[in-house]
Amino acid sequence: MAGIWVYSEDNIVEQQLLTIGRSLADSLKEPLIAVNIMEDNSLDLILRGADKAIIIEGNSVLPESYAKSIAEIAGKEKPTTFLIGGTLRGKEVAAKIAAHLNVGLVNSALSIKVIDGNLETERIMYGGLAVCTEILAPASIVTIEPRTYDAAQGDPSRTGETEKITVEVAEIVTVGNVCPIIKQGADITTAEKLICVGRGLAKQEDMKLAQDLAAKLGAEIGCTRSVAEDYHWLPNETYIGLSGQKVKPQLYISMGVSGQVQHTAGIRDSKIIVAIDTNENAPIFEAADYGIVGDLYDIVPLLTEKIVK
Ligand SMILES: Cc1cc2nc3c(=O)[nH]c(=O)nc-3n(C[C@H](O)[C@H](O)[C@H](O)COP(=O)(O)OP(=O)(O)OC[C@H]3O[C@@H](n4cnc5c(N)ncnc54)[C@H](O)[C@@H]3O)c2cc1C
Repeated sequence: MAGIWVYSEDNIVEQQLLTIGRSLADSLKEPLIAVNIMEDNSLDLILRGADKAIIIEGNSVLPESYAKSIAEIAGKEKPTTFLIGGTLRGKEVAAKIAAHLNVGLVNSALSIKVIDGNLETERIMYGGLAVCTEILAPASIVTIEPRTYDAAQGDPSRTGETEKITVEVAEIVTVGNVCPIIKQGADITTAEKLICVGRGLAKQEDMKLAQDLAAKLGAEIGCTRSVAEDYHWLPNETYIGLSGQKVKPQLYISMGVSGQVQHTAGIRDSKIIVAIDTNENAPIFEAADYGIVGDLYDIVPLLTEKIVK
């Protein structure tokens, strides 16, 4: 069968993988195979671009438990490449599958393309200082972060094949209790407009400047790692960057953010980037579409006032 395979335990992420999977499959003239576990959503997968859906049903509620079964199924079919959603669980499953199959694994690819008949990935290295390009050996596994691609749209005219496989997996973990994660901040990953605060703010009370602007714009507020982890002014899930959240707003406005690579790695997919900083040499201006060199304490109130008008 070969083909381009995609899998994520998260249905939304799998829809995003179907977008890039379909494009690679068309370029290489290969089928696109989507794998899902524990739930038969084969029709949706096919309408969104899969030529075949493989639905694995088993006795565990933990996606990680299915790694060996997925590896055995893929091992027989020898995919050209296997794209796996780069969630925490997805990365664990990807590593286990790569180990079972003894194949290469590229984690957190920013892109994957067909170049001269080969599959080439790009990923960030050295904390954002370099981009590494790799040519994939056949059957390599690639994890792709959520939201790297838009979700594939459904086409009601599409048809495809479904295969259901029942497996028995070894339960190495017993679930004792399940507690929901209580999120303190807004979900900045889906925000259309985002205000980002950095250490240029002198004190926590000055967050009011950002809140006023955000309220007028209908924006959410995110921050740099320093503001979340060092100052604790905002929850950790609202910091943006390489080790924080990757965001994709239509409009991102930074105030007092220097723009180190570890931060800008998380904003590169923003449509319009506006930066306010006193230092005209701040690296944020290299990433920005519009730069305002000046004191945020003067500029932000003016901006808020203008928006009101
Ligand atoms: C492995 C690793 C991973 C990391 N991951 C992340 C990450 O995911 N996200 C992240 O954000 N960081 C991350 N960092 C930290 C990152 O390197 C920077 O230290 C951090 O982003 C800096 O935050 P900042 O821009 O708020 O502060 P600073 O770098 O101190 O910048 C403050 C800016 O405010 C400006 N300023 C000061 N006063 C004013 C004023 N009145 N008006 C306007 N501008 C003013 C200054 O000119 C300066 O440019 C990581 C670091 C490492 C080593």
